Order: sequence, then structure tokens, then C-alpha cells
Amino acid sequence: MASGVTLRTQIIVLHRYAYSNSSWIVKAISPDVGVLSLLVKGAKSKNSPFKAGIDSLVHSEIEIPRYKGNSSLIIPKEAYLQNYFPKMRSNLQSLASAQLMAEILLKLGNGKSHAAEEFKWLLNNLECLELNTIKENSLSLWLHKLCDILGYAPTLSKCGQCGQELLQPADLWPALGGAVCKNCLGERKSGYDPAFLQELGNFANGKSNQRNSWQRIENFFLGHLRVHTGALENLKSWEWLLETRRLAEC
Ligand SMILES: [Zn+2]
Repeated sequence: MASGVTLRTQIIVLHRYAYSNSSWIVKAISPDVGVLSLLVKGAKSKNSPFKAGIDSLVHSEIEIPRYKGNSSLIIPKEAYLQNYFPKMRSNLQSLASAQLMAEILLKLGNGKSHAAEEFKWLLNNLECLELNTIKENSLSLWLHKLCDILGYAPTLSKCGQCGQELLQPADLWPALGGAVCKNCLGERKSGYDPAFLQELGNFANGKSNQRNSWQRIENFFLGHLRVHTGALENLKSWEWLLETRRLAEC
């Protein structure tokens, strides 16, 4: 491996910014490598072989010559566009939701260990957003899935103390890794609003919820990820997503 091998890998572009007059620095997630940084030279020229293959949120395949497995800045040779997700882009809420997922994965910046699963579920969500208009619960499901991939998913559908199956948690205890039942809670008071615990129970058991409850569930999982990773403060796309939702209600 001293001189490196040619690696062909799939990517989803999470973010990019201009570097000099002609180049881009592209942050992308690959199932084989994790989050990687690409220096794409000459990509702004008309005859560039990269074209739309390195636009934000595209799914592409790239070829990396002489890949050594430890490069901090990778120079790819070519990008082959797989999916531009044009319908997803034309819907403001779908786009904002995709941008939030991308920003979260970028901030987590995980290496190889969870990359295959993170890539798979991001791609899966982009494909769903492309096929359908955005679903109310899709972001909650994705955030929960991400907690699960990283090993932080709270147990919600059974009591962490006695193992009893639950329709809704009586409280959430971090030390138990999630829900606790009424019996085990005993005389203690829950730290959560009962209406929210009901919504969370519905979510965990695959039942439907009121339209405006999804945001509380998203907030819960975002907070959960924030506490466990310490990496998700000030998510710009979260504010933007809330803004697009307010616009949609006007
Ligand atoms: Zn219990």
C-alpha cells in the first residue's frame, strides 16, 4: 500500500466551498472511508470532468488514484454522477431536511466505523425525498436511526429496569438508557410532560402522532445526539428547516 491503490467509492456531498478561483474543497461521506475532504482542482471550468458530480447533496461515484488510506486532503480524478435528486431540490422543506442531515453527519465527522450505515441511511432518505414529498415523521425516524447506528438509541418500548413492554414510558432515565415503567417509577415524579411521553411512546410503537408533535420528537433525538456526541451545537440548517415549515403554514 506504500504507493497507494486506485479507490472507487460512492459519495454523497455534504458541503463544499470555493478554494482559489478555480477549485472546490468538497466534504463528502463515503461508505468505505467515512467523512472525507476532497480538493477538486479546476472544477469551476466548463470542461471539468466533475460537472455536477460534486454539487451539494448529490450522490456520485469518485475515483481516487493512489489512495493511501490516511490522506487528510484527497485529490479525486473523476466524479460520476449517480443521482442529482432534482425533485428533492425543488421542494424547500425536503431540501432543508436533507441539508440538516448533511450538516449533522458533517459535524459528527465520523471515520470508517459507522460510515457504511450512515451512508446507507442518508442515501435512503434522499431517495425517499426524491420519490415522495416530505413525510412528517421522516426526520424523527432518521435521527432515531442515527442514534441507533452510533449505539446511543434510547430504549423506549420497554422498561429499562424490569423489562416490561411499554405503550408509553412513565419517565426517561439516562442511567437506564431510556424508558422506565409506572411501577418502577413508583412515587417519583417524571421529569417529562406526560403528553410528550405519550407521543414518544406512539413513535416507538410505530403509531401516528399529531402533526405538531414531530418537532418535539425531533428535538428530543437531537438533544440526545448532542449530549452523547458533544458535536451538534448551533445547527444552522435546523433553524432554516423550522423557517421553511413556518413558511409552509402561511
Ligand atoms: Zn419497570
